[in-house]
Amino acid sequence: MAIKGIIFDMDGTLIDSRLDFDQMRVDLGLPVEAPILETIESYTGDRRLECERILRRHEQRGVQLATVFPGIPELVRHADALGLKMAIVTRNLHEFAVEMLKLLPVNFSPVIGREQGPIKPDPWALLHICQQWGIQPGEAIMAGDYRFDLEAGKNAGCPTLWFSQQRTPGKSDWHQLADYTISENSVGTDVLDQILRDHVN
Ligand SMILES: [Mg+2]
Repeated sequence: MAIKGIIFDMDGTLIDSRLDFDQMRVDLGLPVEAPILETIESYTGDRRLECERILRRHEQRGVQLATVFPGIPELVRHADALGLKMAIVTRNLHEFAVEMLKLLPVNFSPVIGREQGPIKPDPWALLHICQQWGIQPGEAIMAGDYRFDLEAGKNAGCPTLWFSQQRTPGKSDWHQLADYTISENSVGTDVLDQILRDHVN
């Protein structure tokens, strides 16, 4: 199936929001390695409200510090020029995502934040986007830097593209979920062209 669109994760993939997840866990009083959103969701009452306030403060700071990763403007312009649709599925809040995406030279539609439905690795948002675009999941690349992105892609039936950033394959137990990888040593536009060539029909 030919590729018609790309669904991007935002933080750590397109945008460096400088979110310090370890410091976040310390401020929230969460165990090391605890999944932040899922753990907060398991809380109730004042504890949960306090955690949501702390999380929001971190994310708000991220909006102010955000920068675009090298190579990303070129990549999304290339995708745009090829006529590919582009959307965002983020575990961040929709309002913060919309602010940060103003740093990029293309439009993403839709932008789905965590408050809008089941979060990754649930495939809900990806399937919702494909339905909105009128395409099959196999026609959309799911691109992201972390396990939830690749798991969501696999759960939806999308080809997956991993932005390895500083991580080394082999140090994670989920990198094998990546059908394609953009590493520090690869040119993103070349990798995208390769994916398109591999999915001509
Ligand atoms: Mg990410």
